[in-house]
Amino acid sequence: MNEIDYSKWYGSKFCPVCVKKLEDDDLGTREVEVRGRYGTNKVESSVCKECGSHALVFQSPARFVLISFIISIMMSGLFFFLKLGAENISTMDIYVVTGVFVLATCAIIAILIHDRNKSKDVIKKLESTN
Ligand SMILES: [Zn+2]
Repeated sequence: MNEIDYSKWYGSKFCPVCVKKLEDDDLGTREVEVRGRYGTNKVESSVCKECGSHALVFQSPARFVLISFIISIMMSGLFFFLKLGAENISTMDIYVVTGVFVLATCAIIAILIHDRNKSKDVIKKLESTN
């Protein structure tokens, strides 16, 4: 099997259901309700016009590492902010909070990896039909 050159797909959007690359004309937006602290916010999300599935974006490895790095930094920042605000914190609490933050960071990165693998699957199918 030929190696797939993924670099030409960097930044492309895909529909995992229709298995195709989404051009600007194929993209629609859907309002997704996100429950926040101050009530419900509506966030626009890119979707496939044909089936309404959430569009996947295939990031380049450099960008992917950068996004993972920013998430880790944000999580550590939040952690230190909480630690500063809490007085008389026990060692046990620190372990628990650290565990929660590490898990949350891993979960977000796992979702990113999952989306990336889904995009790769779509690319593989697209390349094999060419
Ligand atoms: Zn679709």
